[in-house]
Amino acid sequence: MIKKVLIANRGEIALRIVRACNELGIKTLAVYSEADEQSLHVQLADEAICIGPATSSQSYLKSDRIIAAAEIANVDAIHPGYGFLAENADFAEQCADCKIKFIGPSADAIVNFGDKAKARGMATKAKVPVIPGSDGVVDNEKKALTVAKKIGFPVIIKAVAGGGGKGMRVAHNAVAFAKEYNSARNEADKAFGNGAVYIEKFLEAPRHIEIQVLGDQYGNVVHLGERDCSVQRRHQKLIEEAPSPFISEDTRKKMGRDAVKLAKSVKYEGAGTVEFLVDDEQNYYFIEMNTRIQVEHGVTEEVTGIDLVKEQLLIASGEKLSYEQKDIKFIRHAIECRVCAEDPSRNFAPCPGEISLYYPPGGHGVRIDSHVYGGYSIPPHYDSMIAKVITYGRNRELALDRMDRALKEYIIRGIATNISFSRTIIKDPTFRSGQATTKYIEEFLKRAPKNLYT
Ligand code: ADP
Repeated sequence: MIKKVLIANRGEIALRIVRACNELGIKTLAVYSEADEQSLHVQLADEAICIGPATSSQSYLKSDRIIAAAEIANVDAIHPGYGFLAENADFAEQCADCKIKFIGPSADAIVNFGDKAKARGMATKAKVPVIPGSDGVVDNEKKALTVAKKIGFPVIIKAVAGGGGKGMRVAHNAVAFAKEYNSARNEADKAFGNGAVYIEKFLEAPRHIEIQVLGDQYGNVVHLGERDCSVQRRHQKLIEEAPSPFISEDTRKKMGRDAVKLAKSVKYEGAGTVEFLVDDEQNYYFIEMNTRIQVEHGVTEEVTGIDLVKEQLLIASGEKLSYEQKDIKFIRHAIECRVCAEDPSRNFAPCPGEISLYYPPGGHGVRIDSHVYGGYSIPPHYDSMIAKVITYGRNRELALDRMDRALKEYIIRGIATNISFSRTIIKDPTFRSGQATTKYIEEFLKRAPKNLYT
């Protein structure tokens, strides 16, 4: 069994990992940047080592410093959380070279799924449906236009190294294509140091539905159902829920079966998420697989009663999954709203600064995952997400009513947040009736008066 874990991350996920380790009797080492000394995960971990200045490239992305900290503190495993080094195969390999267990899948799986064009190939090989698109990378404009015409407009040009909605452009016709193709390449190059792109048919208003999987070191794989993450702003998730109010029992079964098939085909180890887009007719298409724990994992935990971070730690320790597919039950409905330090009245601009007053909601059916507190200063250097509100109940109606109540109770003063905005969505009849697609927020912003949510 793993005895001591280095947490190569910050914020709410670092705290989430500390909590899981505490329950399993595993010691924790926090590594932190100079900007994060006051962060809760640093205070609650058993040990902490400062690894550099605030800028991520000088701290949370410095693999050599993190490995050095691991060796000094004598840890036997590293949990990368999400973002930063979580999907960095070189880092996973460095860990292996130093005989430190990287909590996640093999470096091979990270490489193959990290390249989204390759991932499409893996899904095709495993006979999982993919969106019609290019056969791998398209590296010159003329060839790309021929491919786009063959697929049929509209198309979406996507970075193979993409993530966080970056390096993605939609082209509605051949005239607009060149500009969008070059923008996608430039943005991808800037964001990921890799300008390679591929092309997919653009679905106008699909649902984003993803399946959580868990695999152990012995080839056993189960799925923990779906999460509907269709409520997105600029391709970034905002609200997630399970089960999906849209898909049928039959589609659910097929998607679960295909996600397990894909994970099994690569002997997948650990927690992973197979992402799909689903059209109006319930046709579903693989878009990517994320080889890490995801922000929205808490929704699945509240629906299944399974602690995903503990499962990651047990799997990495060499334990077998202690249940089979038939043992996994979906006992209720859960929903998550991401709370971000951003100002909806200024086009959602990030809004770091000191929290002068903080009073999180509580009570029956409410879970808050957050690293902030009253008097805490949100540094400007990182992601603007500062908390996740997860509510759950016997059915969707109850979970949604609870979310409305929890958001109403949530007091954060000193900075702007998107809490009122999320509350307006929760009350909106279109969302409430389960009709939200990935286009929903764009349409909502066009029709809803601004004073409703600012
Ligand atoms: P990232 O890795 O940057 O999150 P994804 O491939 O997971 O990118 O896509 C993010 C979101 O972008 C999807 O949930 C969806 O809203 C939109 N998207 C991606 N591909 C398509 C597509 N082919 N058609 C329509 N929307 C798409």
